[in-house]
Amino acid sequence: MAEISRRNVLGGVAMGGLLWNTAALSTESQQPPYGPAPAPLDGPELPSFRYPLGAQKTEQFNGGTAKEANVTGFPVSEKLAGVYMTLEPGALRELHWHANAAEWAYVIEGNCRVTTIDPAGQWEIVDFGPGDIWYFPRGHGHSIQGLGPGTCTFLLVFDNGYFSEFGTFSISDWVGHTPPEVLAKTFGVPATTFADFPKKEVYINTGPVPPPLPLQPAPDSQNAPPLTHRYRLRAAKPEDFAGGTERKASSSEFPISTTMTGALLVIKPGGVREPHWHPHAAEWQYYLKGSARMTVFGSHGRALTDEFGVGDVGYVPQGYGHYIENTGSDELHLLAVFNNGTYEAISLTGWMAANPDLLLATNFKVPQATFANFPKGPVVIAEQG
Ligand code: MN
Ligand code: MN
Repeated sequence: MAEISRRNVLGGVAMGGLLWNTAALSTESQQPPYGPAPAPLDGPELPSFRYPLGAQKTEQFNGGTAKEANVTGFPVSEKLAGVYMTLEPGALRELHWHANAAEWAYVIEGNCRVTTIDPAGQWEIVDFGPGDIWYFPRGHGHSIQGLGPGTCTFLLVFDNGYFSEFGTFSISDWVGHTPPEVLAKTFGVPATTFADFPKKEVYINTGPVPPPLPLQPAPDSQNAPPLTHRYRLRAAKPEDFAGGTERKASSSEFPISTTMTGALLVIKPGGVREPHWHPHAAEWQYYLKGSARMTVFGSHGRALTDEFGVGDVGYVPQGYGHYIENTGSDELHLLAVFNNGTYEAISLTGWMAANPDLLLATNFKVPQATFANFPKGPVVIAEQG
């Protein structure tokens, strides 16, 4: 009852229903499970499943840039959010943690170094290049620094559509809002030590490119966690299908990634990631190369088709049917990130192949012979017909 009372104080919740007076809610209370119930999937028409992240305004920082996709601009994406970020050589995305989401990332271009800390006090400092992914469990501390040469560009994905910087806790912000006397006692140094520390959040700062990591670390210099934060996704051997390839990093391939799975799909011209659904995960997509058409099936006769290009984000609610066609003359490359560390999918071809032709004939009211040449198992990525 205490929780319900608190909600009423915060903003006029309709008891027993899902109506929220969002304008009266504090920022703190907008995090799940307290977030407003999204209505976008309830209506007779499906909402948009495309968000043009690349076309959004870029926020400039000292040494880097960022742009974000979350429920604010993309209401249907309640389970996952993303940030497109760049860092110049030496620029540091400062030490921080996220209270409300795990962080998954794919390096699109360039090189960077991350530092991590976990609750056991174990750390990992590791470098990333194009095609590598990282995963930071919710609440674990981390930083990201551009190594050069050139700009490092990466895509961050969070397993919470309500993710925003309001749930990000930065070290400069915290230290800047802690009295110097407390810092002096904590660190055992004079209070004046902190006189020139920033008074507000740094977010990104420029600095020197750090030296290369030692190939052979010195004795007693490491306290590594048992599970690494890095997985070389693009370097991994893919699963081959008639119309393309797929590289997946679930917790099977990338054990630390317990709440998210990432996949890199390459679809040949004319190919299609066949109709399928994911029983226990929503899917957040980023289109890296080429052009695509995705159709989402939302039951009750609802299906929505949209065109996707480089820089677009796509979203498929958990359990919704969907398929993706390569509409270009070149390969289509896209990332698909799921809010579950176990990968599950059921394909239309596999489902039908698992049922007798007689049943299918009855189901569709067509002759049984119709199904004689249908695939005998899942196709997954079909080639041009
Ligand atoms: Mn982060
Ligand atoms: Mn899918």
